[in-house]
Amino acid sequence: MRQPLSIFLVVIQLALTLMLGLAATRVQAQVLRVGIYEQQPDIYLSPDNHPAGILGELLNEIARREGWTLETQPCSWQQCMQWLHDGNIDLLPDVYYTAQRAKTLGFHHVPALHSWSQMYAKAGNTLRAITDLNGLSIAVLAGSTQEDYLRTTLHSLGIQADLIPVQDLTDGFQLVSRHQADAVAADFYIGELSAREYGLVTTSIVFQPTEAFFATQKGQNATVLAAIDHYLSLWQADPNSFYFRTLDHWRLVQTPNTIGPHAIRFIITLAVSLSLLLILLIWQQIRHTRLRRQLQAKTRQFDTILGSINALVSIKTPDGRYLMGNQRFEQFLGASAGHLVGRPDTDFYTNTDTLATIQQSDRAIIETGTRSFIRQTIQRPQDDSARTLLTTKAPLWAANGTLEGICTVGTDITDHVQAEHTRHRLTYYDTLTQLPNRRMALEHLQQIIDSTRHNQAHGALLQIDLDGFKRINDKHGYRTGDELLAALATRLRKATREHDLVAHTSADEFVVLVDALGNDSHESARIAMSIAENLRQTISGNTLMIQNIPVLITASIGLTLINAASHDCDTVMREADMATQRAKDQGGNQATFYKQDLQAEVEQRLWLEQDLLQAIGTPQLSLHLQPQFGKDGQITGGELLARWQHPTHGPISPALFIPVAEESGLINLLGTWTLGVACDTILTLQALGEIYPLSINISPKHLMEVRFVDFVRETLERKKVPGNRLIFEITEGVLIQDIQAVALRMQALAQLGIRFSIDDFGTGYSNLAYLKRLPLYELKIDKSLIQDLPDDNDSTAIVQLILAMADQLNLRVVAEGVETDDQARVLFQHDCHALQGFLLARPMPIDTWIQRVRKRQLSADH
Ligand code: C2E
Ligand code: CA
Ligand code: CA
Repeated sequence: MRQPLSIFLVVIQLALTLMLGLAATRVQAQVLRVGIYEQQPDIYLSPDNHPAGILGELLNEIARREGWTLETQPCSWQQCMQWLHDGNIDLLPDVYYTAQRAKTLGFHHVPALHSWSQMYAKAGNTLRAITDLNGLSIAVLAGSTQEDYLRTTLHSLGIQADLIPVQDLTDGFQLVSRHQADAVAADFYIGELSAREYGLVTTSIVFQPTEAFFATQKGQNATVLAAIDHYLSLWQADPNSFYFRTLDHWRLVQTPNTIGPHAIRFIITLAVSLSLLLILLIWQQIRHTRLRRQLQAKTRQFDTILGSINALVSIKTPDGRYLMGNQRFEQFLGASAGHLVGRPDTDFYTNTDTLATIQQSDRAIIETGTRSFIRQTIQRPQDDSARTLLTTKAPLWAANGTLEGICTVGTDITDHVQAEHTRHRLTYYDTLTQLPNRRMALEHLQQIIDSTRHNQAHGALLQIDLDGFKRINDKHGYRTGDELLAALATRLRKATREHDLVAHTSADEFVVLVDALGNDSHESARIAMSIAENLRQTISGNTLMIQNIPVLITASIGLTLINAASHDCDTVMREADMATQRAKDQGGNQATFYKQDLQAEVEQRLWLEQDLLQAIGTPQLSLHLQPQFGKDGQITGGELLARWQHPTHGPISPALFIPVAEESGLINLLGTWTLGVACDTILTLQALGEIYPLSINISPKHLMEVRFVDFVRETLERKKVPGNRLIFEITEGVLIQDIQAVALRMQALAQLGIRFSIDDFGTGYSNLAYLKRLPLYELKIDKSLIQDLPDDNDSTAIVQLILAMADQLNLRVVAEGVETDDQARVLFQHDCHALQGFLLARPMPIDTWIQRVRKRQLSADH
C-alpha cells in the first residue's frame, strides 16, 4: 500500500542524486569518505552506492548544499568504527553519543536523530515494566549502547535476565519470532520497521533515550561538523523543513529496494481502487505525525518542567533503589548526572538520622500503601547542611496491583522556615534586649489567665519600672541607656526560673510572668512577693559597669495575682500598673501589691518569719501551761502552749505564727525547743512531787522528720526524763499522709514510752479504722464541739458517740475548750476522763503554775 509513494520517492531520489552530481561539478569539491553500514531505516547503501535512509538523505542534502562529494564505503558496524579510528573514512553516520566514545571520536552538537530503545516481543506478552524482564532471555545487538545499558541497569536493579548478543538485529527479531528469545531490544525507528515483519509487537518497556550523530575522527573535519550542526539546528526549528519531511517519509514508507518490477504491475492494477484508502491512510498518517510531534513536544515539555522546577523529584523501587531523579535532585545528592539509577540512599547520604528518616517514611508508604505529606529535616549530602523539606510520597502501582515504586516530591522550605523564624522573632522579640516584647507578654498573659480558669492555680504579673531611667539617658546618652537595658535583661533572665517569662515591654519597663504558684492565694502572694523582692535586689543590689561608667539603678515593682477571677489582659496590666505607680509614689525601689490587704498580709508573713527566727531561744518566746482536771478535781496533766511576746507588735497568737513556722520550716526548731522546755518543766514538777504527764503539740512535719525519733531519745536520755511523762498531740491531718510510715514512726516513739493523743478530734477526717492501727492513748475532743454543748443536739450526739467509741477502743478522752459548768457536767456524766478549758484554768506561764503548785502544797501542809 505504501509502494506508490515509494516509487515517487525513488524518482525524487534519482533527481536529487543527479542534482547533487551537478552541484559537485560546479563547486570546488570536498571529498568525504562516508562509512555506510546497514541499519535501516537510519542508514544504508542505495543500489547505486549512495547514502540512503534517514541520515543518508540528510547527509545527501547537506552535501548538496555544501558542495561535498560523498564517497561511500560499505562496512559492518565494527569495521566502520575501526576505519573511523584509523582514518580510513572521514564520516560515520548513526553513531550514538556516549562519554566513552567522545574520548576518541569527534561529534557535532545538535543530535541528528532523537530516538529511544524499546523492547519488542510476541503479541500477548505481559511486559509492562523493566522489572517484568526477570527470568527472561533478551536479544540485543552485540557491542551496542543498549547492551551496555541493559547490563548495568538490570544488574543494579537485581533483575536476573539472560542477554543474548546478536551480530545483526534481524537475527534478534528472528530469535524472538522462533521462540528462542523472549524479547529483543532495538532502537525505536529500527524496531518499528522490523517488528511487524517478524510478527512482534511493541511492549511498554521504553528505555535509554538516544541521540544519533555523524562522527568523525577526533580533532578532524571541524568545518564538516559545524556545517552539519548549522543545517540540523536550522531544520529542527521548522516543522516544514527538509528534516521533518524526511522523518515523516521514513515513518511512512518501506525500504525502496524491496520493490520488484512484478510488484509495479500489481500496484498499478490496484492503484485506482486503493487511492481512496490511501488518501485516508495519508490523512491518518498526518494525524499520527501530528500526534507524535505533540507527544514529543509534551515529553520535551515534561523534561523541561522536571528539569526546571524547584522540587526534588525521584522514584525508587520498593527495595530502595532509584529508578529516576530530576536534575535538581541529583544536584541535591551531589551525584553526577546519570549516576542515580540503580543506587540506594546509602550511596549518597552519610548522616544516620537522615537515613533513618527517609527509610521510615518509605516504609510507611510500603506498609500503608497511601500517600503521605510530611515535613522532614534532611542533611543535604551536597554540602552537608541541614535542610527542611516538605515531602509528598506516593505509591506507584503496577497493573497487577503490586507496589512498583515510591514517588517522592520534596520542596526545600529551609529558607522559608528561616524567614518565618526571623519574622517571628521580629514580631515577638525586642531586638535590643533579645527578650520577648509586649505583644508576646500579652499573649502569654492570656494563656495564664485561661489556664488559671482550668486548674485554679495562681499566676502573677510583675511590672518592673526602672526608677529615673530618663535621667541616666540624659546624663550618659542613649548608648549607655541601651547597654544598661541589655545588661539588666541578662540579669533578670538569670534571676528567674526558666519557665517564667521575662519581657521588655517599653523603654524602661520589664514584665515578669510567673504561673503555677499554687491554689492558695495567700501562699501565691507570698511567693510572688519573694520573687519580686529578689528581682528588686538583683537590679539595685550591685553597681553595673556600663562603658566604664558605674551606674546604679533601682526599680519600682508592681505585682498583681492572676487567678480565675482575672477578667482579661487589660485589667491585669492595669492592676500591675497601679501597683507600680504606688511603689513609685512611696519613693521607688520597692515592690508593691495591687491589693493593699494582700500587701499587708504578705508583709506580715515576711516579718513574722524573719522575727520568729530571731525569737526562738529568747525570752520573747515561752510556753504556757494549761492544766487538765479529772472528775474529782484532781490534776491529770497539762498542755504546753507556745506564746510569743513581740518587742514591737506585742503578743502574737500561735494561730498566726504556728502556720508561718510550719510553712517556713521553723517549726522543727520550735519543736526542738519545746521538747527541751517540756522536759525541764517535768523535772521541776517532779521535784515538787507532782507526777502527771505534760502534753505538747507536735507538728506533722516535725514528726516525720528523719532524725526526729533519735532526737527525742537523745533529749529524754540527756534530761533523764522518763518517756511516759510526755504526751504528743498530733492532729488528724497527719494521718492523711502515708499512714504506714506514720504508724511506724509512732511505734518507734511509743517504745520510748511516749503516748499519743489525737488533737482536735471530731472536726475533720473521720476514718476510724486507723485508730486501731495506731499506738494511741487519748482523744482530745475539739473545742468547737464542746462549745455547742449541751443545747445543740448534733454536737451532743457526736460527743456521746466519741465517748462510747473511745470506751470500746479503750482510749482516754480529754475535752478541751470547756467554758461552762453545763458543759463540764454533761461531759463527766458521759464518763469523759478529763477537762481542759477556761472554766478550770486559762493557760498560764509555767512559773505561775509552779507557784500555784507550791502555794497549794503549802496550804495542804497547813
Ligand atoms: P490547740 O492544740 O487546739 O490548743 C488549744 C487551744 O485552745 C489553745 O489556743 C488554747 O489557749 C485554747 N483554749 C484553751 N481553753 C480554751 C477555752 O476554754 N476556750 C477557748 N475558746 N479556747 C481555749 P492557742 O494557745 O491560741 O493555740 C492555738 C493552736 O496553736 C493550738 O491549738 C495548737 O494547734 C497550736 N500551738 C500552740 N502552741 C504550740 C506549740 O508549741 N507547738 C505546736 N506545734 N503548735 C502549737
Ligand atoms: Ca493541742
Ligand atoms: Ca485542740
